[in-house]
Amino acid sequence: MEQLKEKIRKEGIALSDSVLKVDSFLNHQLDPELMKAMGEEFSRYFAGSQITKILTVEASGIAVAIATGLALSVPVVFAKKKKPLTMNQDVYVADVFSFTKQEQNQVTVSKKFINPEDRILIVDDFLAHGEAALGLASIVEQAGAAIVGIGIVIEKAFQDGGKRLRTAGYDVYSLARIEKLEAGKVTFVQEELLLQD
Ligand code: 5GP
Repeated sequence: MEQLKEKIRKEGIALSDSVLKVDSFLNHQLDPELMKAMGEEFSRYFAGSQITKILTVEASGIAVAIATGLALSVPVVFAKKKKPLTMNQDVYVADVFSFTKQEQNQVTVSKKFINPEDRILIVDDFLAHGEAALGLASIVEQAGAAIVGIGIVIEKAFQDGGKRLRTAGYDVYSLARIEKLEAGKVTFVQEELLLQD
């Protein structure tokens, strides 16, 4: 998505060769116009998949998830990040290793918000090693619902999350795919050119 790539080129800061800071439009300050456009793009890509609900994880996935929910006219659920829980019958729980905090967390979703009839689109801000998305997918599977696909704002294609999710059979659609991060420079994956006969 060119509008997003342009924003990353202008405002993204490579904190290292593996972490991108985009707090001026995605992770702290938010750009509503860009959110709207990203929600519409996910809606366009996943149109016809009979999505009934969007699932994301707090906090940075929520804004783009709402934009997507608005575009698809479906509710949005966000998983809560919690300290490891003692047994609670009312929630689905998944273990997620946090890339940014380098610690094991649990994410939870109340059982009342996902039903076996649901067709879920998982949405998140970044894809690194796929831990967050796989945790959300586990929750959907625990609920017996279907996973229609996974929408990611920024995929760091040099990390293994994309491969893990695609190998597991999920339809992953990333709005921007980064091939390489260097000080002051972001290189995007060259999307395949459509060859015409
Ligand atoms: P994964 O679970 O795929 O390993 O990592 C994805 C999660 O970690 C996202 O929810 C996001 O919050 C965080 N994350 C991973 N890489 C980055 C990054 O380069 N920048 C920022 N701001 N967050 C990241």
